[in-house]
Amino acid sequence: MATSNKIITDLQGTFELHNGVQMPYFGLGVYLSEDGQEVINAVKWAIESGYRHIDTASIYNNEEGVGKGIKQSGIDRKEIFVVSKVWNSDQGYETTLKAFNDSLKRLDLDYLDLYLIHWPVKGKYKETWRALEQLYREKKIRAIGVSNFLRHHLEDLLPTVEIVPMVNQMEFHPYLVQQDLLDYCNVHKIQYEAWSPLMQGRIFDLAAIKEIAEKYDKSVAQVVLRWDLQKGVVTIPKSAKKERIIANADIFDFELSIEDIASLDSLERGQRFGPDPDTFDF
Ligand code: NAD
Repeated sequence: MATSNKIITDLQGTFELHNGVQMPYFGLGVYLSEDGQEVINAVKWAIESGYRHIDTASIYNNEEGVGKGIKQSGIDRKEIFVVSKVWNSDQGYETTLKAFNDSLKRLDLDYLDLYLIHWPVKGKYKETWRALEQLYREKKIRAIGVSNFLRHHLEDLLPTVEIVPMVNQMEFHPYLVQQDLLDYCNVHKIQYEAWSPLMQGRIFDLAAIKEIAEKYDKSVAQVVLRWDLQKGVVTIPKSAKKERIIANADIFDFELSIEDIASLDSLERGQRFGPDPDTFDF
């Protein structure tokens, strides 16, 4: 199915995860936002302008700044959906428990909203998942999920789990839709989430999207981010610039037609800008 029947309201709207937790469908990505003032400002500006979801990872080396940005925003921590990820070299049962606690300390928080296995490290991810289940049972995380898991990774993992992942965060943009995987996740009630929704900044050159954007009097970024949501996909565009952080979220006053969604879908060419989950070597 090309579009989703999930309801989209405003910047603080949510999709419900299979355990009932409400996940804000629009968040701020902070990969490559520098720890210290840059990431503190980005997080603060985002929250001040209405964002309620921040996506970091231990490998981004900016969890401290993210935590400070959240505190300095003045918004109650409970209102913010905070996501981090366990890095590949920390995978395994005990090492994941430790990595999680280290992330919490750096963020200066006492729980996370969502914790993800960053990459499907062969021979490790099942043990890592057991650690996430344990942390979830201890109520240290409100939802647990995976990232960069292709269908075969999920088919390998699911028969072994007690708790089905609530989220799969994948590279996703008009050149990489992977509709089969998206459908598979929908069937299993695994919320799909887009990383690099703006193709790491390369989306702006695509003439076909510019044409659609002009029709709605919106920017290329706004059209693509709206397309994510209308496909039922959570999205986390990254910017460290105040104007862009605000502009990227200005997507709740228009709706893409079914035809325009289909046009965007048709750009798919299986092209990745990030690593391939089958061949990554880190
Ligand atoms: P993105 O697609 O969000 O693009 C970010 C780039 O686009 C930046 O260079 C930014 O300056 C530019 N940009 C943003 N808004 C713009 C605008 N309005 N006009 C012009 N340029 C604009 O790329 P990303 O950062 O790779 O992905 C988003 C987030 O996804 C990351 O920050 C991170 O949180 C997450 N992520 C996760 C994984 C994973 O393996 N799970 C991998 C990569 C990224």
